[in-house]
Amino acid sequence: MSRTTSGISRRALLIGTATAAAALTVPTTAFAAARTPKVLVIGLDGTLLGRVKDADAPRLKALMAAGLTAPSSIYANPMAPTMSGPGWSTLITGVWPDKHNVKDNNFTGHKFAQYPDFLTRIETAKPALTTYAVSSWAPITDTVFSSKVDTRVSTPSAEYDTGTTSRAVAQLKSGNPDAVFVQLDNVDHAGHSYGAASQQYLDAIHGVDGQVGQLVDALKSRATYGNEDWLILVTADHGHTDAGGHGGSTWPERQTFMIAVGGTAAAGSTRHDVKMPDIAATALAHLGVAIDPAWSLDGRPIQQPTPDAFDSLRAQLTGPVDETGIGAGVVGFTHTPPSGWSVDNSAMGTGGVTEWRGWAFTTDEFWTRAERDQQRECNVRARNVFAVADGDEWSDKTVSGTYDSTLVSPDFPVTGGRPATLTYTTFYRQESPQKGEVLVSYDGGTPVSVKTYTADVPSRTETVALTVPTGVTRAKVRFRYTGGNNWFWTIDGVAITQS
Ligand SMILES: [Zn+2]
Repeated sequence: MSRTTSGISRRALLIGTATAAAALTVPTTAFAAARTPKVLVIGLDGTLLGRVKDADAPRLKALMAAGLTAPSSIYANPMAPTMSGPGWSTLITGVWPDKHNVKDNNFTGHKFAQYPDFLTRIETAKPALTTYAVSSWAPITDTVFSSKVDTRVSTPSAEYDTGTTSRAVAQLKSGNPDAVFVQLDNVDHAGHSYGAASQQYLDAIHGVDGQVGQLVDALKSRATYGNEDWLILVTADHGHTDAGGHGGSTWPERQTFMIAVGGTAAAGSTRHDVKMPDIAATALAHLGVAIDPAWSLDGRPIQQPTPDAFDSLRAQLTGPVDETGIGAGVVGFTHTPPSGWSVDNSAMGTGGVTEWRGWAFTTDEFWTRAERDQQRECNVRARNVFAVADGDEWSDKTVSGTYDSTLVSPDFPVTGGRPATLTYTTFYRQESPQKGEVLVSYDGGTPVSVKTYTADVPSRTETVALTVPTGVTRAKVRFRYTGGNNWFWTIDGVAITQS
């Protein structure tokens, strides 16, 4: 019973104050917590969330109304192309392509032994649970999901999505699966044949919408449905261009999304901090599989949101000033830091592109649209709003002086005399004489350098050990970027922890 109790309190915490209505729809917390958790992941190949909204898609729209909708974006080359192999591998393993190493649709050199699919993780942690995967695109069930999954079915191509749907429906109606994965392919097919801007693409979304409806109806028709706590996740492996096709770095090709219904997902809610690997992590969390840090998952369960100070800026982001390639309607930058933070531009040169003069707070969409194919698309581990110092984009208009800007954190409370850990997510692309430096000061003392960047660092979470002097109570972090027409540095999710 103690596990049940902690489940209730975690649920109550996550629901929070904004969704009191959603909390009221739970009959009683005791009843809800006693239900058997189950998960259905529906993957819609090449499906754009924006076109779902344009389409006659009542079942998908009903899921969005009943749950969480999270538009999201993915990498581009050189991390991986926006193709199905890397996309499905990322969704299903919960790590980005620089870990699972799928860079194409041949899966050569994949690291699924080290980063297995989420159904295999379920089988390892809870072998008694029943796992089932069916796909119209065979590599998913032949290669990405391992033989530890109870049932893997690659639908014969003659049956295509009709056969995939009927198999999944039969399993949901008559079987007793705990975790189900279904991939439907036809929207991608329409995208390739006619383009995402076409009526045929909308028609394909209408068609798959009916199949999603069949899956949801099958699930709800279960005799045991009232005693089950189903989490439904709907997602896509990549987007499509208006003219049709994907693999490149344009914003439409880099689109994905998560729709989540059930569990703690609040009805009609929207989030901007959800990333592609969160599908696997969220499914694992719903089934009570503890995520071991040793797995190095990039995904985070949506049930455990981890917003940072920069994310609070989303509502005050504005549109482009000097940048011409981003698109007038795209909102995504500010120079006003969040409460407690500051930016020291006292040594900063003048002129240049307004958006990038000194540290800016921005989004993946706004920043990557400023200029494509310079690796900004690989900043995959930043979430929602992040900080960027970009000497390259700043220098696209006449400048005088050099780029010298320092992002300054609030005081983090610390206990003197005990070690601490500074963590942040970063991505750094080097060209001499550019330099990034992290400095820490205690109780207003002289900042001391704790980390220097003078070589490329791929997207990753840094952990920097700090020696906290005896007697101090406050630590302040500075991120100083100096350079000119070089590259960039991103910072997100800054925290200091002490055990
Ligand atoms: Zn395709």
